Amino acid sequence: MTEVRASGRRRFLRILLLLLAAYGLWLVFQWLRYGQPPRGGEKADPLEVVGVYHIHTRHSDGAGEPETIARKAARQGLDFVIFTDHGNPNPAALSLRKRQGSLLVLAGSEISVNRGHLVALGFEVPPQPFSSQAEEAALQVSRSGGFTVIAHPYSKVRWSWGEHAGYRGIEILSGDTMLRSNWARALPSLPLLLFAHRLPLLRLLAYPERNLRRWDELCRSHTVYAFFSCDAHLLYGPLLSLLHLHVLLPRPLPEDYPEARTMINTALREGRFYNCVAAAAPGHGFRFWGESGQGRIAMGGTAELTPDTLLHIRVPESAASQWRLLRDGEPVLNSEQKTQAYLPLQTGVFRVEVFLRERTYLSPDCPWILSNPIFFRNKTT
Ligand SMILES: [Zn+2]
Ligand SMILES: [Zn+2]
Repeated sequence: MTEVRASGRRRFLRILLLLLAAYGLWLVFQWLRYGQPPRGGEKADPLEVVGVYHIHTRHSDGAGEPETIARKAARQGLDFVIFTDHGNPNPAALSLRKRQGSLLVLAGSEISVNRGHLVALGFEVPPQPFSSQAEEAALQVSRSGGFTVIAHPYSKVRWSWGEHAGYRGIEILSGDTMLRSNWARALPSLPLLLFAHRLPLLRLLAYPERNLRRWDELCRSHTVYAFFSCDAHLLYGPLLSLLHLHVLLPRPLPEDYPEARTMINTALREGRFYNCVAAAAPGHGFRFWGESGQGRIAMGGTAELTPDTLLHIRVPESAASQWRLLRDGEPVLNSEQKTQAYLPLQTGVFRVEVFLRERTYLSPDCPWILSNPIFFRNKTT
């Protein structure tokens, strides 16, 4: 009897070992197949700076010291980070605004309001706390020289939609939201976090359909920009490499901190930036602009549609990709060309989604690059 039990146990152990070995081999295969992202071949452009938005530090519910996080960001070659600790506003976090080596540390605050969480950026510290009423808070932030972004509208603390009160942005992909809703997808590849952290993180990302639909809806009547949001509370090193904002500047960033900070905030407020899942492939060099007899229309801009207006799209050479141009949320052009022009015949809100066609851990339907829109409005609106 004892012998039968012992041989049964041995068989069980053998099967377990075989399964573990198979799992180990699968992990190694994933690492070999997907471990190296496509390398960026684009030349460094001083008019394109890259940063990460929405990071919590120990000044609210984040686990990290701000200086340590900033050092990690600088090591990854980022140009700026934006700390957004909770508070109405958070004075300790706001005091972090400075230059740390080559890195610009910007800070705003994630305000808890009656409709959800609202991120306030680029404002001067007000004499009084911001209101807990969303509409009032948005107005106060803008009076203090800043602007607001609706945070994680469909997760954690959800946004309850009311009259649009001039919010300038909406989070479309959020690291924290994806972790909460898609953790099971990343579970099998979790051990890769130790030596190829990009892979389980990329597995978390899925097509943010509700956010995109809501954004398109808002854009019909308002000027609202898309933000990829890190919303990091820990695991800063890996998360800083996941979602990047590429800000396009009219001239290179100056040494002077207040001036450089203003330039980045102005570009974010005016939508002169695009979003990239950088852990999948570096996205330098994407461009989306309009041209007409009246001049150039920057991404984020609003213009009147004239018969000679052309939209131009340029996608990075560094990775195989496919992209689509959308008008009011509906695709009007699909392409694999690296550069292309499009003649818009009707007014509307035009934006671009780029999808990777490389061997990647990023779900093929999740946009690798998301542009901000160009708005062609009717004269009367
Ligand atoms: Zn939040
Ligand atoms: Zn947050």
